[in-house]
Amino acid sequence: MSRKTQITLIRLVFLILFLAVIISGKMVLWLVLFALTLPAAILFGRLYCGYACPMNTVMVAADALVRKSSGKRREAPAWLKQTWIPWLILALSIPILLGGKRLLQINIPLLPFFVLLSFVLTLFFKPEVFHHFICPFGALQRLFGRWSMRSHLVQADLCIGCKKCEKVCPNLAVRVDDQTRKANIRPADCLQCQNCVQVCPTHAIAYQRIKK
Ligand code: SF4
Ligand code: SF4
Repeated sequence: MSRKTQITLIRLVFLILFLAVIISGKMVLWLVLFALTLPAAILFGRLYCGYACPMNTVMVAADALVRKSSGKRREAPAWLKQTWIPWLILALSIPILLGGKRLLQINIPLLPFFVLLSFVLTLFFKPEVFHHFICPFGALQRLFGRWSMRSHLVQADLCIGCKKCEKVCPNLAVRVDDQTRKANIRPADCLQCQNCVQVCPTHAIAYQRIKK
């Protein structure tokens, strides 16, 4: 079984788990799982984003659909490129979740809404638009990912600066410096998805311990 198939299977298992949790009305269980993955992001990087997040999984599907139809997608509009926007969405989401439960006695389906939103947006915009500029969960993961002890990293002496990794990265985590012609991955933004590993012609990218 190829690495890509293994990753797809892991994502599908988590997606099924997510659907089961939502259908049974136990959304709080998913939020607890998410909370546990925050300290885990310090130890292992943002594995939740790359493998367990239902939004990422449906975005991968949307991305594949668009790539197959060779459709062009838009970059993030300038007004959206503000670091505070995901935090504002997070700040609004908490009272919506708690208020719905306490005042209306209903579970407002906020997580399914984000899943749907991420899928639809990825049909028209590049994946980083949702991952980087909208997702409130991603903002929390990025915060913890700053102290990550492990991540996918580039071995500079193997990098030939071809930029293939840049093109497949869903979260603007890897950049090739135009002067040095070497790629560099920011662990705080890396979803550990392995897209870059699969396209790198010189096998320059590997999951490893970060030397501080
Ligand atoms: S740097 Fe590589 S592993 Fe990290 S998010 Fe981008 S494509 Fe995925
Ligand atoms: S795909 Fe590999 S060789 Fe090409 S720029 Fe990225 S890390 Fe360097």
